[in-house]
Amino acid sequence: MPLKVIALGTGVCANCISAPGPRRQPPGFLVDCDGNLLLLDASEGIRFRIEDAGYDYGALKHVAITHSHPDHAALPQIIQAKLCRVLWGRPVDGMNEFKIYMHEALVEKFSEVWAWHHPEGDVVYKDRLNWSCMPMRTGVETEPFAGLKLKPFGVYHGFGQHPSLGFRLETAQGTVVYTGDAGLTDSLFEAVANADLLISDASSRVGQDSTAGYGHMSPKQCGEIALRGNVKELWMTHYTGLDTPAAMEEAVRATGFAGVVKAATDGLVWNGASKRV
Ligand SMILES: [Zn+2]
Ligand SMILES: [Zn+2]
Repeated sequence: MPLKVIALGTGVCANCISAPGPRRQPPGFLVDCDGNLLLLDASEGIRFRIEDAGYDYGALKHVAITHSHPDHAALPQIIQAKLCRVLWGRPVDGMNEFKIYMHEALVEKFSEVWAWHHPEGDVVYKDRLNWSCMPMRTGVETEPFAGLKLKPFGVYHGFGQHPSLGFRLETAQGTVVYTGDAGLTDSLFEAVANADLLISDASSRVGQDSTAGYGHMSPKQCGEIALRGNVKELWMTHYTGLDTPAAMEEAVRATGFAGVVKAATDGLVWNGASKRV
């Protein structure tokens, strides 16, 4: 069963903050598991990047968002796009379905966000698209489609005030863990254990290794969880670009982590796990 992870957005919530380099969009990772799609985080304009990666967002039925900060959860836009595809577009399988997996504490208020965008009500869209929010929390396990288990775990973010999740994806072709925005906590070591691919928040700069505060990790901390979690490949994501990729990778190596490490850039692809020896 082929498994592929495509980095659609490895940047942060702002641009023009570092020296010119490859453009990196805000967060989004597309998982293709034997032709079934799961999107991890849905930043602004994600549908264009799904299209650029060779997929039709109309066929996307599952999106898991780590938390509700705007750079991760431009949900009304993709729901609206799916709805308008149903009204106007070429029909594709899955067009009428959309499940949004999110922290249980965020589900109720999302209906207010949607209503704010549509004070006229849903009458135009009624019965066009069956979309729903799936409440998630640590310990709730679901199988969006056959062959992929989605396991959320709580993470520390937004001074510990923001309901935030990471996701562990287990498939026959390997285990992928995405931390979302997360500060370093003990629970992370267990959440990432033996991952074939770890996609880790590296928003904090090299040398800023605080374990409290807002709730992001530095490259060194990414290396620490990758090392202790026996991770095979580490992608650092959501970094500002204020440190060079070389400096970030050096901070990871200083922890003793000997696996593959990358300061991820948009378009990076992971093609499933090779057998562990
Ligand atoms: Zn955030
Ligand atoms: Zn963020």
